[in-house]
Amino acid sequence: MPERRSALRCDLHLHTTASDGQLTPLLLVDLARQRGFDTIAITDHDTTGSILEAQAAGGDSLTVIPGVELSAEDDAGDVHTLGYCFDINNPEFQAEMQSFRDHRFHRGRLIVEKLAKLGVNLSWERVLEIADGGSIGRPHIARAMAEAGYVSSVKEAFDRYIANDGVAYVERKRISPEEAIQLIHSAGGVAVLAHPGLLKDPASMIERLAPAGLDGIELNHPKNSDEVREIVKRLTKRFGLLTTGGSDFHSMERDSSHMGVYLAPDEAVNNLRERSLKYG
Ligand SMILES: [Zn+2]
Ligand SMILES: [Zn+2]
Repeated sequence: MPERRSALRCDLHLHTTASDGQLTPLLLVDLARQRGFDTIAITDHDTTGSILEAQAAGGDSLTVIPGVELSAEDDAGDVHTLGYCFDINNPEFQAEMQSFRDHRFHRGRLIVEKLAKLGVNLSWERVLEIADGGSIGRPHIARAMAEAGYVSSVKEAFDRYIANDGVAYVERKRISPEEAIQLIHSAGGVAVLAHPGLLKDPASMIERLAPAGLDGIELNHPKNSDEVREIVKRLTKRFGLLTTGGSDFHSMERDSSHMGVYLAPDEAVNNLRERSLKYG
């Protein structure tokens, strides 16, 4: 009898060049293999552009679950929702993703214009090159700023200019976290609250979103403190929610040490699949 591993080794939160990650789907699949994964989910911001390529590269030995990460902005701050196991061909869902990406493009231009008024002159063409066809995000602009020598790091670009309270900040199209959950459900997917450790008040957000149909919470994530993990465990039990986990990998430089450390709980993939039957 071949040896059987008792649990899947699984990372459910990964980004690629389709959004603001730095690895192509093929390179990410290679890395996942090197790190011994059985299953991964690619969760790019507002796009499913890498999923098919990654699934083809993963073949039978590495399962790639369809995922996405949606941003909602709320008085309580940025709220990110992960969607899993949805139909990536759902036309209404894809039309929404396209409108989010169009908005990101437009917003990126507005940020670059605002920066120019502050004496930070970036080439929009260069920002697009850095994004490399992926949906435009502030990290791309931050990298262009660092490259042009206006700041010494991406972090400094955010801190001094483009963070939510920064001088060159431009508002995002606002969808509520409740709308993000509905959108994922309407495509047959499961909605999971991402990195609650980044929220000002994780407990009250979970208490608000559980009755709105939230299916699960990301328990294992580099930004979740032990205290947040305890809150998540308590509230997932109380509301009957599933738990997930992943590294939120964007680049080797930033996240190499997290990939393979922040894993999904053993039953996460089964629970996601089972839960998705409710919406499919
Ligand atoms: Zn996020
Ligand atoms: Zn993410």
